Amino acid sequence: MHRSKSDFQDRRCKVADRWDGSGWKWKWQRPLEGGRTYADFQELRTKVGAVRCTENKDAWIWDLNQDDEFTVADTRRWIDDLVLPTGGVETRWCALIPRKVNIFVWRLLLDRLPTRERLSGRGFEIESILCPVCGMAIENLLHLFWRCEVASCIWSGIFRWLQIPSFEINHPKDVFYSVEASRMRLIQKKVLEVVVGTTLWIIWRYRNDVVHDVGKMKKCVLIDCIKEFSFSEDKWRWELNGSLEFSVAAVRAHLDASTLPTAASPTRWNRFVPIKINIFAWQVASNRFPTRLNLEQKGIDVDTIMCPVCQREVESLAHILFKCEVAIAVWGRVANWCDAYMPVFDSFGEMTQWVDAKSNTNDRRAKVDAVFYTTMWVLWKFRNDMVFGDPKPKNDMLFDSIVSFSFNWFCNRKSKDARNWNAWMIRPLRN
Ligand SMILES: [Zn+2]
Ligand SMILES: [Zn+2]
Repeated sequence: MHRSKSDFQDRRCKVADRWDGSGWKWKWQRPLEGGRTYADFQELRTKVGAVRCTENKDAWIWDLNQDDEFTVADTRRWIDDLVLPTGGVETRWCALIPRKVNIFVWRLLLDRLPTRERLSGRGFEIESILCPVCGMAIENLLHLFWRCEVASCIWSGIFRWLQIPSFEINHPKDVFYSVEASRMRLIQKKVLEVVVGTTLWIIWRYRNDVVHDVGKMKKCVLIDCIKEFSFSEDKWRWELNGSLEFSVAAVRAHLDASTLPTAASPTRWNRFVPIKINIFAWQVASNRFPTRLNLEQKGIDVDTIMCPVCQREVESLAHILFKCEVAIAVWGRVANWCDAYMPVFDSFGEMTQWVDAKSNTNDRRAKVDAVFYTTMWVLWKFRNDMVFGDPKPKNDMLFDSIVSFSFNWFCNRKSKDARNWNAWMIRPLRN
């Protein structure tokens, strides 16, 4: 079109100079006589043909659906339409996970993540194209996210956790197709999408930590991270029930729908503690817990099945949460604090039975549960810190952290209760 310009009289004219209120006025130095210039001019005319100028002031209008209004949703649809058909991947925008994870998944599906194979394919000088995690194969998406030992171990843990058969993966997209094609209910698919997105993201973060050699996550806690992130009320926003409000009932409905049909124990959901603690309690209730004994019984190689805290007995769930010497001491202090006499429990079931028998109101029952869940969780954290932590934790802070965790959780969730720290310290369960 540049050639037409040079034939214009007065090339610095304004649009208004060429518009007479009803149509365009063209002024040429010499008549246009066919050829390239004329063809360009014809094209220009068709392009501006629909444009009508007014006397109004100039303004920016961002109006994608012709209703004079700018909305983020329109923009996103517009970008999707613009960008995605060429990539052949529709955005799987999942409202339940953070934007950064959505963008990450989208880049992964388009093969735009800077894996070593991709970088070297684009001519970047890199030390190695081998997988930074295992060093056993070329690092591409399929290897990093599915075939690599860490990834495949994580996925099998995730599938076990969700109690669904694992997927056959030959391409990154397969995992989402498998979710879609499965015969689950919509709501279960949603949950699965959250977990799958989170899992991919955690694997990528782990890989980056290895590459950049920054305090990397421990392999053994990756699955816990995924579980926690997937259902963390602080970071992830739940919208499944259509409202923006995070709703514990909704999450519980999903968890029940997606994982519980085969579990014998009903969820004993507690409104005073965070989701992760509830999920933890549910795992305890169904004995789905990676104690050394449980791992060994599942055929996983463990160095030892002895309790990592006392080294004296087999590490079963009952042992680590109730019967280990550290646990007995902590439960003793909790009993004192709650002003209750209680036996050494043998299982989660026995504990809840005892709570039911001793509680005359639902409110009291829920409060006792909250304290007990917190106690179990603190003990389990202590155990993990014993196994993986450096330096090893000290057990004299356990009781204090039970008191402060439960106080914070309780106050955050029951703002009307004008309870202060001193009252909580002395008599947590008094009304
Ligand atoms: Zn690898
Ligand atoms: Zn022990």
